[in-house]
Amino acid sequence: ESVKENEPEIMPPPSAKGRRKSVAPETNKSNKRLSTLMKPELQPKKGKFGESSRPNQKFYEMIQDFRETLEITPLSTADKAEPQRICVCVRKRPLNKQEVTRREIDVVSVPGKGTLLVHEPKQKVDLTKYLENQVFHFDYSFDENATNEMVYKFTAKPLVESIFQGCMATCFAYGQTGSGKTHTMGGDFTGRQQNSTKGIYAFAAQDVFAHLNHRRYADLDLCVYASFFEIYNGKVYDLLNKKAQLRVLEDDRQQVQVVGLEEVCVYSAEDVIKIIQTGTACRTSGQTSANPNSSRSHAILQIVLRRNDRASTLHGKFSLVDLAGNERGTDVSSNDRGTLVETAEINRSLLALKECIRSLGKNSDHIPFRMSTLTKVLRDSFIGESSRTCMIAMVSPGMASCEYTMNTLRYADRVKELNGNPKAIE
Ligand code: ADP
Ligand code: MG
Repeated sequence: ESVKENEPEIMPPPSAKGRRKSVAPETNKSNKRLSTLMKPELQPKKGKFGESSRPNQKFYEMIQDFRETLEITPLSTADKAEPQRICVCVRKRPLNKQEVTRREIDVVSVPGKGTLLVHEPKQKVDLTKYLENQVFHFDYSFDENATNEMVYKFTAKPLVESIFQGCMATCFAYGQTGSGKTHTMGGDFTGRQQNSTKGIYAFAAQDVFAHLNHRRYADLDLCVYASFFEIYNGKVYDLLNKKAQLRVLEDDRQQVQVVGLEEVCVYSAEDVIKIIQTGTACRTSGQTSANPNSSRSHAILQIVLRRNDRASTLHGKFSLVDLAGNERGTDVSSNDRGTLVETAEINRSLLALKECIRSLGKNSDHIPFRMSTLTKVLRDSFIGESSRTCMIAMVSPGMASCEYTMNTLRYADRVKELNGNPKAIE
């Protein structure tokens, strides 16, 4: 039962968020208890919308009623993607088969234009059910019908352009395990087979080579390199070299280096896709406690542009990051020491990431990148005028995930808060 009474808020509500309440006037206050006592043949079978009754039918109806009042103008491919220094978006995945089978209620609405609503089911002490409709605003919001291509167009695509102009760009997939991070970055699944040509990694690689061959950038004489690694428990493992553990060093000029990281010279998008497949297979092989499940590690694909000179001078870099599941950072249920350390580490790195992006948004001189390995290895992406960042917050639509969804949205909201976005400072 995911409905909680007078549930305390973990964080104060973000300023950008408005609230609207819908209250269901309960004719019979002890309705819920009564109905569980009723004989099956006396229980209502059909709801207002013709479906047979489901758990939390009342909430379902209230959400449907609310949705009827919404004006929906979804983002379209014809809309223009505005380039910006920090971009924060949200993507809602569709209910999956199991959720549909369980008749789970979809509590997230995306009216469009960057807005997203969570219809939080609540219950008063007297058992009156009501919705707390939480409103969030982001740069873009993608509903369950958005394709990876569509998400790519508004998130990572403008960043590809930027690395040719010498920028250090990062794109993060953030969210709860199962919310669609790997689907978005690595490609969609048909059964257990991942189609890596249809994810943001592959779209970005295709665009990099399209740019490389463009007249405008021909004079730069650039070469493309790719690396793929994982961060687990603060340690870096090379996914292109049998998970060899690598050291992270910072020199006296504060340059951070991952020592010995494989950087493969690539000549086509197909080469990058092969690398993604090799790395992904390496990442997910032999999942034991020593070799953890991918939801507990961050995976980073880097596409690096270097000049074709003797020193292979760095020109631009794009880091695409499939983050560890954010619920891992809050899981305090375990007594196992290993899990606790892991949890603390994930929590620390996601916190550090948020702080680094916020510092970037404030043009602060102090970027707290030393807080975690993740931010350390991405250090050059958080400093200076040439930094570009995009965060895609993924949410699951189901009522059972509501609390995690709210956590994800609050986090994303904080990342963008001080980004000179007038809506967010209101
Ligand atoms: P995560 O990496 O965040 O743990 P996954 O990307 O593995 O989550 O997604 C969990 C499941 O949901 C997968 O089976 C995936 O195919 C499916 N899924 C995620 N996002 C979508 C989407 N936008 N459309 C269809 N299926 C999706
Ligand atoms: Mg994943």
